[in-house]
This record gives sequence, C-alpha cells and structure tokens, in this order.
Amino acid sequence: MNLNVANCPRCGRIFAKTVRNLCPQCLAEEEELYQKVYRYLRENPKSTVQQVSENTGVPEERILAFLRQDRLLASEWSFLTYPCERCGTPIKSGRYCEKCTVEMQHSLDAAARSIKPREDKDHRSGYHYKGHLR
Ligand SMILES: [Zn+2]
Ligand SMILES: [Zn+2]
Repeated sequence: MNLNVANCPRCGRIFAKTVRNLCPQCLAEEEELYQKVYRYLRENPKSTVQQVSENTGVPEERILAFLRQDRLLASEWSFLTYPCERCGTPIKSGRYCEKCTVEMQHSLDAAARSIKPREDKDHRSGYHYKGHLR
C-alpha cells in the first residue's frame, strides 16, 4: 500500500495529500477567509490590507499570503499592496519591487560573468575601447 499522506503544516493532522498542501479542514477554513476578504474587497475596492484585516477579522499575514500566492491580485484593487520580500517597499505583483528585481538581475549577471572563463576577448577587434567619447 502506498498511501500518500502528510502532516498538515498548519494543524499537524495527518491527511491524504492533494494538490494543495493542507488538510481538508484547514483548506476549508482558508477558503472561508479568502471569500471573506474577496467579498469585502468587492464592496470596498479602495481598501488597504490593514483596513481589510480590521473589517473582516482576517489577520494581515493571511491576506498577504493570498496576495503572494496570487490568489488575490493586488493590481485589481487600487490601494492594495504588500511588502517586497527583500526591502519591504509596497508592491502590487510578484515577490520583489522593481528596484530589487533589477539589482538581483545585476548580481545574477555578475555571478554568471565571474563563472565564465576569461577567454581571448582582448584579441577581438570589436571590443576596443577608445576612452572618451568626443
Ligand atoms: Zn490542517
Ligand atoms: Zn525591494
């Protein structure tokens, strides 16, 4: 018998694994919270995460989790933002703000460049630099 079971990360109950990594009880609870938040936002589309939390009783971090999982799209609601995972700047999509995305891209590029062996680039005519531009 190959039962695919796991401990629910939220309540610790053992459950048969599904696509979602939560037991049915926690999943139902999560769904309920999500519906609450969604209904509130539909009626009050100009709310911030703090206001939604205050008025629905759903903890802010749960709302943020919905946003990070893309269950709630911050870009659909004008005042809804969540912090960039790197610097905390309020953002509306993805996990990082634009600045961090660019910075991380740069450091990735730099890392990739330092891994590549230095080849005989110097000999290629196209790579000559003339110093100052006039
Ligand atoms: Zn559970
Ligand atoms: Zn950032």
